[in-house]
Amino acid sequence: MYELNNKLKKLDAYDPITGSYEIRLDANESPYNLPDYIMKDIADRICALSFNRYPDPLATDTVNAFAKYYNLDSDNVTGGNGSDEIISIIESCFFEKGDRILSFSNDFSMYRFYAELYELENVVYQKNDDLSVDVDKVIEICNTQNIKAVIFSNPCNPTSLGIEKNEVLRLIENVNCLVIADEAYMDFWNQSILDKVNDYDNLIILKTCSKAVGLAGIRLGFAVANKTITNALRSAKSPYNTDSISQLVGAALFEEEKWLKKACADIIGNTEKLYDEICRICSAFPNILAMPQKPCTNFVFIKSDYCDEVFKSLQNKSIAIRNFKTYVRICCGTKSENQCLLTALEEICEELSNNLVYGG
Ligand SMILES: *Cc1c(COP(=O)(O)O)cnc(C)c1O
Repeated sequence: MYELNNKLKKLDAYDPITGSYEIRLDANESPYNLPDYIMKDIADRICALSFNRYPDPLATDTVNAFAKYYNLDSDNVTGGNGSDEIISIIESCFFEKGDRILSFSNDFSMYRFYAELYELENVVYQKNDDLSVDVDKVIEICNTQNIKAVIFSNPCNPTSLGIEKNEVLRLIENVNCLVIADEAYMDFWNQSILDKVNDYDNLIILKTCSKAVGLAGIRLGFAVANKTITNALRSAKSPYNTDSISQLVGAALFEEEKWLKKACADIIGNTEKLYDEICRICSAFPNILAMPQKPCTNFVFIKSDYCDEVFKSLQNKSIAIRNFKTYVRICCGTKSENQCLLTALEEICEELSNNLVYGG
């Protein structure tokens, strides 16, 4: 009888919320679909596609458009089937079985997922109670525990907090290992180190189209690194890792600088308002929700002893958020979606707090 090996038996699949909800604030996506004129442009490009041919292995047009948008040299950029695939390529190819890789807690769960799959040893740095990162401590762990790479999101999913540029550079300069900085949410903050990519031989920066760019429905992500690492990544990836449609959608979108910047500015502004309103609710119901810290991302991370209750009650009102058991993460939606969320959240807090008072 065929048996799965132990690592597959142990594997916990990524568990996104399923089902249909009127309001989706659980996956940190952009609330904005593409406007009609961009849709039309994409449709025209798709009609001109040679579907019978393999895609460009280097996604040249897409990489060029991405590089132009972020002021980079194309020679520093590798395209991937979502940044998830790039994390997978890095963790499968840049290390050997048993190598130690340092990640943080809380942070994006896929870093550890792939490391386990590729039989690396996960070492975990526990963040401070206030969710901040002690960079000196991280440096010390890297340099004393035979760490081959450190990987983290900045700003962080799920904490919504960021490590300032100078601190990240200090980390890169003071460790001997590879540093993988996932800037999935950096479009919402101003501490990117993309412009420093050629200053270091131990740095890979990850970018995704799934969040600020609003293209979670296609799979497109990028690694940005010096030329040596970029050449290695391009050799290690499967040849046709990004499909022609994703390539052309990405290429079309990075030419829409005005629309992208405007969408991003709107999301930043609406997240700020969402955060302010959530703070107001938290201060009215301090027994239910703790005051969150100001986010550097498009979502708010809130501590609570009642996560399951809040999560389920919102679910009953057809609003999806993410439940981390001691925290909930709420992503910024459209203005009206945010308003619905706030009204629902306030009602739920009211109800929970009445139950507390009356012991119900
Ligand atoms: C969402 C997310 C990703 C995933 O990006 P894809 O390009 O959709 O695979 C990567 N890193 C972080 C921190 C994320 O939150």
